[in-house]
Amino acid sequence: MPNFSPGKLIIPPGAPHLFEEPGGREAANRESALCLSRIDRQGDKPVKIKSVNARSVHVPIAPEKQHSSDFGRAHSFAATIVRIDTECGLTGWGESKSQVGGVAQNRALTALINEEMAPFLVGEDPRDITRLWESLYNGSRAHHALREGRVFPVLGRRGITISAISGIDCALWDILGKSLGVPVWRLLGGRKAQRMPAYASGGWAGAERIGEELLSYVEAGGFGAVKMRVGIMDGEPRRSAARVAAARKALGAERKLMCDAHGTWSVAEAKRFCRLVEEYDLAWFEEPVTADDKRGYAEVRASTSIPIAAGESEFTRHDFRDLALLSAADIFQPDLAICGGITEAMRISALASAFNLRLAPHLWAGAPAFAAGLHVAAASPAGFILEYSLGANPLLHELAEESFPVEGGEIEIPERPGLGVTPREEFLARYSLP
Ligand SMILES: [Mg+2]
Repeated sequence: MPNFSPGKLIIPPGAPHLFEEPGGREAANRESALCLSRIDRQGDKPVKIKSVNARSVHVPIAPEKQHSSDFGRAHSFAATIVRIDTECGLTGWGESKSQVGGVAQNRALTALINEEMAPFLVGEDPRDITRLWESLYNGSRAHHALREGRVFPVLGRRGITISAISGIDCALWDILGKSLGVPVWRLLGGRKAQRMPAYASGGWAGAERIGEELLSYVEAGGFGAVKMRVGIMDGEPRRSAARVAAARKALGAERKLMCDAHGTWSVAEAKRFCRLVEEYDLAWFEEPVTADDKRGYAEVRASTSIPIAAGESEFTRHDFRDLALLSAADIFQPDLAICGGITEAMRISALASAFNLRLAPHLWAGAPAFAAGLHVAAASPAGFILEYSLGANPLLHELAEESFPVEGGEIEIPERPGLGVTPREEFLARYSLP
């Protein structure tokens, strides 16, 4: 793991003097330490990481609230919740995700944070976010990366390593915001608006009930946009298309309608689906084919006028660069608990903007990752809409003291310092795996 920690010494012993002060090196060190103390302390305590603690949280979903999709029946909701405490009493929260509902992978992710990354982070200044991100990503070669200005990643440059960095990164931004008394969106350049439109995400019912299901979402939050699931769960594109037709008929012409195939169709099936639903004015078609077939994405996109959305299972800016270069998508959907956190999501946002694409973070997540995505969407020039899950999601609705109410189809971008999320200890204690 990383062993490079620049910035800890003011003037290293034996370093050549670049200047001579009255009183020599000791006086210079004292003066430098005094300057640093004005910005590096909150009250009488330094802003240093005291502890990093990740917990695997696994919440069962009541049978009447479960839904079924190509993933099977949703029996539970799982994530790794990251807590970082500082010497000065600030606490940052983040969220890492390996697999929704998975237990063993979340345990591995939690162990990676607690056993390998935490020892490196303790004693560091949590506000040095870029240095800490690059150090965790580049591991034992971090000093090369920091000096050369390019990446030297270790073997774990995708997967749970990046998920682990994601949760830590969000917690660091949370601490930075709290240390300055400002929300994260302020640190990212400010929010574009006080409220942003949200879309209701759900839609599993068959053709006979899908209209009723989607209209119940509209009634619940006044949503102007809704998303329904399609794909292999329907068997064939024509069955999905029949459900889309029923949905459009119920919603009328004005409400936006999106479809999500969870990457389950072949390129040919996805193209056939697009042709069958072209007349229903879809706002986007999400994950038409597997994320491992980016050329297939490009082929589907080239065959249709329906915007293609992608990215909820991609890691780092490098994956999104490939999507952009292949002209594979119109809308990027990084998940803040997977892609590398707020730091990486803003890099992905810059990529989207440079390619004239749009950003709609994947927010089917617990409250910390939801808040992180909301702050990024609000601060990004490419952000335009927020996902709001209408399936059972106890980590969004029950984990934290705060909520994100939807009114008139919009969500307020909160003024609370940091991420603005305070997980309840009793909830964590109840649902954390031993
Ligand atoms: Mg999706």
